[in-house]
Amino acid sequence: MNPRWNGQFSRFHLVAKTSDCGRSVVRVRDIEIGGDDFVVMAGPCAVESEDQLLRTAEAVAKAGARLLRGGAYKPRSSPYSFQGLGEEGLKLLRKAREETGLAIVTEVMSEEDVELIAGYADVMQVGTRSMENYALLEALGRCKRPVLLKRGMTATLEEFLCSAQVIATAGNPDIILCERGIRTFETATRNTLDIAAVPVLKTVSHLPVIVDPSHAAGVRSLVPVLARAAAVVGADGLLVEVHPHPETAMSDGEQSLNFREFRDMMDDLEPYLALRQESRQPGPQLVAAGGHD
Ligand code: PEP
Ligand code: MN
Repeated sequence: MNPRWNGQFSRFHLVAKTSDCGRSVVRVRDIEIGGDDFVVMAGPCAVESEDQLLRTAEAVAKAGARLLRGGAYKPRSSPYSFQGLGEEGLKLLRKAREETGLAIVTEVMSEEDVELIAGYADVMQVGTRSMENYALLEALGRCKRPVLLKRGMTATLEEFLCSAQVIATAGNPDIILCERGIRTFETATRNTLDIAAVPVLKTVSHLPVIVDPSHAAGVRSLVPVLARAAAVVGADGLLVEVHPHPETAMSDGEQSLNFREFRDMMDDLEPYLALRQESRQPGPQLVAAGGHD
């Protein structure tokens, strides 16, 4: 282990991996994230209609996903883009859970929406643009639902864990970290998947770490290979965008898989999941630094 990581990360004492806490498992209904299972969350970028969502839920459940993702409140870069169905979308997500048994993960953008969304969702997603929205993080700390915290697109791992510590300090220990690609000088992909972030985070933090290959790649042809890489480096699961007709999707169609592509991706992951176990042997731990502010 890089000795520098001690001073860098051990001050986030609630989320750092030390002799006090080796690995934590986040429980979502009957699903364990951070344990031995590789947990896949899949679904459309945005909830668009009942037909789109229910068909997708059925297809991803059949292929082995355990959670259904879908944005009802969308952080769009342009004010002219589709902003999501709001509460109507949350109701459709609840219906999809009733019909398929999949747990629901959906994004929350504002602290004012936390209570409403927590009434429908099993996991509260914090998007890359909100990683430093401290009012939101504190509200999620007081909420009784697990949080899927995405890495800010320009955030260092230290800043990422600092945001996790904010949620934990406010009272919520159930946090799942998500590497979704960062901004670099590269333009061939939408973001640059920082694959090293997975083993670094697994070394310095006890929290589960998943990878979002869809937003990292920005193009669907790269999603399966990045998913395989995530498994090999020891990730706890994936967040993947899937749509019945990616070419007509209201957001992120270029990076969404259709049902057949998702099924193939899941089937092709099998041999890589065996390699995943090898990257998950208990490693060195940070020296506990005690509380810091
Ligand atoms: C999403 O998951 O659809 C999303 C908006 O992701 P990110 O915050 O990583 O851009
Ligand atoms: Mn998206």
